[in-house]
Amino acid sequence: MKPIIAGPCSAESQEQILKTAEFLSSQTPVNTMRAGVWKPRTRPGGFEGCAEDGLRWLHEAKQRFGLSMAVEVAVPEHVELCLKHQIDMVWLGARTSGNPFAVQEIAEALRGTQLSAMVKNPLNPDLQSWLGAIERIEKSGISGVKAVHRGFSINLESQFRYPPMWEVPVEIKRLRPDIAVFCDPSHIAGEAHLVPIIAQKALDMEMDGLMIEVHPTPKAALTDASQQLDFAGFEHLLQHLIVKNTTSPGNELQQMRALIDDLDEELIAVLAKRMKLVGEIGAYKNTNQITILQMERWKAAMKHRIDFGRKNQLDDDFMLALWRLIHSESLRIQGN
Ligand code: PEP
Ligand code: MN
Repeated sequence: MKPIIAGPCSAESQEQILKTAEFLSSQTPVNTMRAGVWKPRTRPGGFEGCAEDGLRWLHEAKQRFGLSMAVEVAVPEHVELCLKHQIDMVWLGARTSGNPFAVQEIAEALRGTQLSAMVKNPLNPDLQSWLGAIERIEKSGISGVKAVHRGFSINLESQFRYPPMWEVPVEIKRLRPDIAVFCDPSHIAGEAHLVPIIAQKALDMEMDGLMIEVHPTPKAALTDASQQLDFAGFEHLLQHLIVKNTTSPGNELQQMRALIDDLDEELIAVLAKRMKLVGEIGAYKNTNQITILQMERWKAAMKHRIDFGRKNQLDDDFMLALWRLIHSESLRIQGN
């Protein structure tokens, strides 16, 4: 089995941390426990973490159950406090890793320390920012920096909270074969019952490990309640995950097919968004008594799409056929 980092989204109480650590210390592939003690909330006013109290509980759990401890840091002061409480590993969250100023400040705070570090992907699928954040931490002398794939905040209809866009972590692995890329199925999935699907897919894509949110009573969790696994759910997941033989013929094909499946889902989501807008435009034309098909607009739009397709190495005839089809569906939606 690949290494697994597990633990609650947030440290909430001494009892919760000790209970979780005791359970995780009995689960073989887990050697590191995660917990957030400073919680970046999208909007102010929610639970923002137990800060130094949380670090004290993690330190106690580390001493009692022998797990390494990992905590999210967002500013240099967090790094100082992690050192004070003998935390082993820090990670930069998705809201931090896309900001080079913040990453650089954290990198400076890490310089000369023994802390290990992980960098989650930024909220948007910006490969260069992700790589840049990893490089900044490496330049401060920290070795063995890991990348963590946690999905992307893109405005696409998806069954997942943060669509995985597997082509991005696969590209990171291609560009940086020397670093470990972990997957965080919990934040990608957003729902506990979808976590095993993403976790298995990550192993099929040859990711190097997993980071999974586990909580003694997920329903009562103060953050990310719907995506955390309870202890039984986590054990069940471990029993069912399969690491396939990566050298077997067909594995590469399986990976490429998984990428195609993912891209097709993105295509469908974009098409659905387009057709929804088409419906709204139809209603507007109707209210304002504008005819549906305007030939000049259609010709100009078609030319632009074919030119743009050509710039992207797509065949003219294919573009023409595709856009005729999309356009005729748009006309149907607008009631023509
Ligand atoms: C977390 O790990 O709980 C977290 C806040 O993650 P992310 O930065 O991926 O949103
Ligand atoms: Mn979380």
